[in-house]
Formats: sequence, structure tokens, C-alpha cells
Amino acid sequence: MQTSSVAMTQEHDTQNDIGFAKQALLLMQKYNISPAPENYTVWFHYAIGKNKELMREVDNIVNNSVDFTQETCSYLHNKFIMASRNQKVVDESAITAQKILVDVLKVINEFGSETENYNEGIDQYMETLSKQIGDASVKNVVKELISATANLKIRGNDISKKLEESTNEISVLKQSLKQVTIESQRDFLTGVYNRKTFEKYVDDQIDLSRKTKSDLCLMMIDIDHFKQFNDRFGHLLGDEVLKICAKTLTELLKGRDIVARFGGEEFVVVLPETPIEGAMKVAEMTRMAVAGKELKRKDTGENYGTITVSIGVARFRPETDTLPLLIKRADDALYVSKHNGRNRATREP
Ligand code: GH3
Ligand code: MG
Ligand code: MG
Repeated sequence: MQTSSVAMTQEHDTQNDIGFAKQALLLMQKYNISPAPENYTVWFHYAIGKNKELMREVDNIVNNSVDFTQETCSYLHNKFIMASRNQKVVDESAITAQKILVDVLKVINEFGSETENYNEGIDQYMETLSKQIGDASVKNVVKELISATANLKIRGNDISKKLEESTNEISVLKQSLKQVTIESQRDFLTGVYNRKTFEKYVDDQIDLSRKTKSDLCLMMIDIDHFKQFNDRFGHLLGDEVLKICAKTLTELLKGRDIVARFGGEEFVVVLPETPIEGAMKVAEMTRMAVAGKELKRKDTGENYGTITVSIGVARFRPETDTLPLLIKRADDALYVSKHNGRNRATREP
């Protein structure tokens, strides 16, 4: 596989990071990939050469002469970086990167006007920076930006205009990193919250419910016979159904209620300040809203019928409960719904 041979032979250690960064940028240039941070992260990991699955997929794309559209890049990022990476790491590195970029911005502005001091200032700054940043990918984005700016200066004239361009580039990067932070709270397919955000939110609501003695309910939702749907119409259409389901749930919820993708074809809804009778009403509305949606292709009018969901509802018990126990009771109630014929909502006993 000629395209990946360079990356395969290198071992990842800190000394090589700059090499990987350069290689990533060269490959991005070669395949005409826009220099967005998420694309950079994918190619940085490709250059490191440790994620064999990522490499296989990229090599396949290259060998089949398929273009790296932004869609393809986002797909690779979602599949190999967002989905597999510990979300905490994503959050932290995004925050660190934002902080660092603000500092870089300051340094560039400060030394941009005093060109004789520029190299000295950058050298000093790089030394401090190397000691401060642990995250290799962030470090290398910053290094590349600074050296690109330094090169502009060496090439001479019209520095301030070019520095301004670099500054704009950094602002764009900052914006993208902000976006990454927001995205890390969401499920990348359906756009509803992901499991990590759900757990954090429900933990807070549990504390609040204990403190204020208010009701708190949980609703577990599972699409019925979804495997059959996928087998019949294909996985891509199945994905569309997951999106429709997520949208239907989102539209039904109010105030502090949130919906998250719990996994596969399961969603979870948190209902703060809601007694179980109220939660059952929401569950019944949800069930009817999903069952009432006719799945149709907009362009051809092709009809895929309808889908249904089974739901389990549980109420938080402040004296004895933990989150896993609450989830388990909602899950047990859900399986009673399945057992009794699906397309129904059941509350815990
Ligand atoms: P049940 O009514 O008992 O829940 O049956 P089911 O077929 O829905 O349940 P099962 O657990 O047997 O299968 C779940 C299916 O959900 C299998 C899997 O292919 C599908 N699925 C999980 N995640 C995704 C996804 O992200 N996209 C698509 N299209 N399908 C998914
Ligand atoms: Mg399931
Ligand atoms: Mg199911």
C-alpha cells in the first residue's frame, strides 16, 4: 500500500510529533483537504500510523481514487476520532487549545509590530509552550501556525498584512474548536445529547431532586424490531429513522427535559420535576407521535411504513436510589413493554 508506507515505518514519540504534523499537512495538501482542525486531527493520527483501521479506510479511499470531500473528512473524524476517543480528552484538549490560541494571538500581535524582536520572542515563547502543553496534536497545530507566521516574516514585505491573515486563520481555528467542544456533547448521528452529557445532566438533577425533594423521572425508549427495518431497507435508511425519532422526541420535550441517545437504537429522556403519572403521559405522547409518523421518501414518495417504540418509565427514589438502579428499573419496565407486545409504555411496579 504505497500511500501509507511512510507513516507505517515511523514510531510515535514526542521527538517525532513535528514530523507527523508536517506529514499530515503534506498529505492534506496532496489530497486537497481543507485545513480545518478536525481534518488535521484525522491526518495527524493517520501520520502516526497506529490506528490501523483508520489507515485501512483512508488507504481504501485513496486506492479507489475517491475525493476527500468535507463529508468524507467529517465521516472519518466522527468514526475514528470523536466516537472512539474518550470524550473527556476531547473536551480538555479543545479547552486547552482555545486557551493556547488566545496566547498565540497575543504573541503574534505583540511581536508583529517589532520585527527585529520577532524571532527572539517566538523562540522564547516556543520554549515556554513546549513545557506547558501535553497534547501533541494541539502542540503541533500551534507550532505549525507560529512557524508559518515566522516564515512569512522571513519572506519579507508586507508583514502586517500577512500577520493579519494568520490572525484571521487563528480566529477561524478558535471558532472551529468552540464547535468541537459543542459537538463533543452531542451524538454525531442524531444531534441529540450523547450518553456522557446525559449522565452528567441526570447526576445534577439527582442532586437537585434530593435537595428540593422534587420528582424526577427517567424514560427509556427502544425502537421495535429495528434490526428487521435495517435488514429490509438498509442501514442508511435506518440511520435516517434514528434521526427522525430523535427529532420527534426533541420536539415533544419542554423546559428542563432532555433527550439523549443511550446507545444503538435506544434513547433516554430525563424529566425533572415530573411525577410518574406525568412521565407516563409524556411516554404515551411519545409512543403515539412516533407510531403516527409515516416514513416516506421525499423525492420519490416511496413508502417505508411506520415504526413503533417501546418505553419504560421509572421514578427516582431519593432515599435508596443510584443512577444505575434508576436506569435498571426503567430498562426492566421497557422490557415488560417488549414482552407485552411492543408499541406501549410501562411504568415500574
Ligand atoms: P426489539 O424490538 O426487541 O428491540 O428488536 P430490535 O431488532 O430493535 O433489537 P435488536 O437488539 O435485535 O437489534 C437492534 C438493531 O439496531 C440492530 C442494529 O443493527 C440496529 N442499530 C443499532 N445502532 C444503529 C445505528 O446507528 N444505525 C442503524 N441503522 N442501525 C442501528
Ligand atoms: Mg435495543
Ligand atoms: Mg430495538
